[in-house]
Amino acid sequence: MAFHLSFYKPGQFIFHGGERSDRAYIIEKGAVEILAEDKDEVIHTLTAGELFGEMGVLDQSVRSTAAKAKTQVTLLEIKPGQITDRLTETDPIIQALIGVLLKRLRALLPRNGDGAQADLLSHVASIIEQSGLSKFRLESELRTAINSEKVQTVFQPIVDMATNRVSGFEALSRWLHPKLGVISPFEFITLAEETDMIIEVGSLVFNRAIDLLSQLPDSVFININVSARQLNSSQFLPTLLQRLKAKNINAERLKLEITETMMVDIKQAAQWIERCHQAGFRVCADDFGTGYSGLQQLLELPFDVLKIDQVFIQSVLTKQVNKTLVEAMVSLAKQLGMRLVAEGVEQKSQHELLSQLGVDFGQGYYYGKAMSISDILAQRGQLFDD
Ligand code: C2E
Ligand code: CA
Ligand code: CA
Repeated sequence: MAFHLSFYKPGQFIFHGGERSDRAYIIEKGAVEILAEDKDEVIHTLTAGELFGEMGVLDQSVRSTAAKAKTQVTLLEIKPGQITDRLTETDPIIQALIGVLLKRLRALLPRNGDGAQADLLSHVASIIEQSGLSKFRLESELRTAINSEKVQTVFQPIVDMATNRVSGFEALSRWLHPKLGVISPFEFITLAEETDMIIEVGSLVFNRAIDLLSQLPDSVFININVSARQLNSSQFLPTLLQRLKAKNINAERLKLEITETMMVDIKQAAQWIERCHQAGFRVCADDFGTGYSGLQQLLELPFDVLKIDQVFIQSVLTKQVNKTLVEAMVSLAKQLGMRLVAEGVEQKSQHELLSQLGVDFGQGYYYGKAMSISDILAQRGQLFDD
């Protein structure tokens, strides 16, 4: 965007109270006085490098103050979109905080005429504020839930396509909210990932997974989903190893799933995988085929397992292109020595086709939904033939 400079002489008004707030300004040179509307009282004197006129742009209201050049001034104009586009893209909590600060600040300034518009805008602002604040509240509730073990872990079977026996499980989190019921991990994991809470959720998951592993045959594995914050923490892998060692469990039985969306930075991803391998863990590419990374780049990463995303599986029988894609993934994975899991298998016909195409493992409602630890232990005899 070409930037636009404007020039004012000493004493000249830049805007008056009550005018439309169509831009903000950064002072390049000189000094500007901000005046209480219709009075000559100077509220602030601003100098080079400072921003003004942004308040009306932020809440789309008319000017509640006036601005006058104190000296010869040069101003850089900021278009409303430059501010509002960023604001709407930002975290709702930040939007809410800005809304709250703006309201406080406005209360200190003289009022201006356009009451109807101001009411409408303050209504809009309060909706934004509410959604931001409700996210804040949810975050606090999640913190309590983690500490009170209301965040549960369930385990979905991963089945060997050739034998139809359960080979392992994927650990999935559930939040039992006292008022909202079961909250999907799609909602609260994202929330947890924005803060360090994901580290705590992650510890709950791997502690339970390790506990379950210690009660199942040695051939059974468990996959856990790991987030970037966990992989970036120097404590993560050593803690896992220590917990496994305490229960005398081989690291190969705990596989780490990394989603394709985390692999935007290929170098970073390669480092993560290498560190996991050095510690003795197997690594799975989760939601394979849905991310934006180039296929070739992705295949240079030494994954042990590819988990083909549900979107390909759900229409593998109805869309020829998806069948072709699955065939291509199978052939690539075989050449690279990787194992394959098909996710979201819901029907027998899907299972049969995938098995015929050479996919190693299946996961989905066709084989079973996620189960609690106690359900698995109760069915131990039927699930495994040891
Ligand atoms: P995901 O890793 O792709 O997990 C598989 C999701 O597909 C699960 O959703 C599972 O319940 C669902 N699913 C399984 N079989 C079928 C099927 O046949 N049909 C359909 N339509 N869906 C099926 P869920 O449990 O809601 O988890 C959502 C996502 O949240 C997971 O996707 C995973 O990325 C993330 N997640 C869950 N728990 C954790 C966790 O403890 N840590 C981290 N970092 N992420 C987690
Ligand atoms: Ca997963
Ligand atoms: Ca997945």
